[in-house]
Amino acid sequence: MSDRDGVIWYDGKLVPWREATTHVLTHTLHYGMGVFEGVRAYDTPKGPAIFRLQDHTDRLFRSAKIVGMDLPFSKEELNEAQRTVVRENGLKSGYLRPMAFYGPEKLGIAPPKKDVRVIVAAWPWGAYLGAEGMEKGIRVKTSSFNRHHVNITMCKAKANGNYMNSIMAHEEAAADGYDEALLLDVDGYVAEGSGENFFMIRNGKVYTPDLTVCLDGITRNTVFQIIKDMGLEITEKRITRDEVYVADEAFFTGTAAEVTPIRELDRRSIGTGVRGPITAEIQQRYFDIVQGRNEKYAGWCTLV
Ligand code: PMP
Repeated sequence: MSDRDGVIWYDGKLVPWREATTHVLTHTLHYGMGVFEGVRAYDTPKGPAIFRLQDHTDRLFRSAKIVGMDLPFSKEELNEAQRTVVRENGLKSGYLRPMAFYGPEKLGIAPPKKDVRVIVAAWPWGAYLGAEGMEKGIRVKTSSFNRHHVNITMCKAKANGNYMNSIMAHEEAAADGYDEALLLDVDGYVAEGSGENFFMIRNGKVYTPDLTVCLDGITRNTVFQIIKDMGLEITEKRITRDEVYVADEAFFTGTAAEVTPIRELDRRSIGTGVRGPITAEIQQRYFDIVQGRNEKYAGWCTLV
């Protein structure tokens, strides 16, 4: 990732990609106290556009507030920074990574509050869980790792340290030959994937876990709109893993994962073991919206 051409926005300046570095005693590198976003830009008929830019920037500020970090830039500056990196790297589409972290000014547990650094990078990134998975669905395993307890890590913050749990769950699932992990909460109810929200469909009705231990996904919110547009019912509720085993369809949502069908959980086929018809329709509508083909949601696409 570090050895490539291009520029990264770093504390208000555009820095050559290879020179966007930080010292090894950077506080966040040691303790994981930082916040970040994952954002996508899509090629639309009007040109490259960032999807739900303001919503991502708003969530970055909410994450910072939760972990007690003061961001040294305004929302407007960070919106502009995101548009700039897409433009300056000549991207038609891609993934953006804004991140705020504590610098190397001191290394005790108490972070250097005045040394907050912000970067925004952007690069091309295709289907997160594979192009084949988008069509055929992915294979998922219930993780032996639980999702965060609400009073241990702050689940509503997209905070760097929270992702140790995600990485361990994903690595375990991948080592066992699966594409992704499904994490349960500490009470044993379905929470989310390592980097995705979860949905299931039974008898034409859509269900998703409530947000108690999940990230408030922007894709999740987009999919809620799509489901309403389709005239379907959506219910937020506690879901057990055996309810998923007998679901007709299931899928993950995320900025990176977009709408990824799930064809199997714990070696049990979901429905007929292929991408379901409602999932396929949601996926199609999602790509129409993010790629600027649905006028109703044109306001969600910010041209760069
Ligand atoms: N849950 C987790 C743990 C995530 O990392 C992500 C990705 N940001 C999501 C859910 C989905 O969120 P969004 O749709 O906003 O990308």
